[in-house]
Formats: sequence, structure tokens, C-alpha cells
Amino acid sequence: MKLQHIKTITECKYCGAKFGYYQKQFMSGWIQDNTLFEKGSNGRREKYNPEMWDSLNNGKYNPTCYCMDCHKPIGTLPLKDIATL
Ligand SMILES: [Zn+2]
Repeated sequence: MKLQHIKTITECKYCGAKFGYYQKQFMSGWIQDNTLFEKGSNGRREKYNPEMWDSLNNGKYNPTCYCMDCHKPIGTLPLKDIATL
């Protein structure tokens, strides 16, 4: 079954959720995960990762969009259309 363009989809056809969708992207590279010595209000050391993902390189683009609730593939987003959503 061919997936429809995600632009035309407003809810999951499997579970009916209207929350949203996600894409899975393969990434390669190291992440720098920074932790502060200072403890936060929850008593734990806080993370300090403003640019955590900047050092990752994009791997292969995957256009499939999955329902955030039931995780089934519900649509597709061609790479050329990312900026048009
Ligand atoms: Zn769903």
C-alpha cells in the first residue's frame, strides 16, 4: 500500500489520533552529553546540552511518517517537501 503525502493527513487512520507524527532518521557521529556539577531543584546534576545534535551528520533520509500514538506508518514526506509544511 502506497502511503499518502503527510500534508493530506490530519489524523491517524489506524487509531484516530490527531496528536502528530514523527520520522525516524539514521544518524551517525558522536554526541557530546554535558552534565553540570551544580545540582538542580530536583537534586540531580543538570544537563547542559544546548547544541547536542549539532555534531551529528545526517545519514540517509527516511520519508516515512509514523503516528506518535500507535507508531504505525501513516504517511510520507518527500525530502523536497520538508520546507513546505
Ligand atoms: Zn495511530
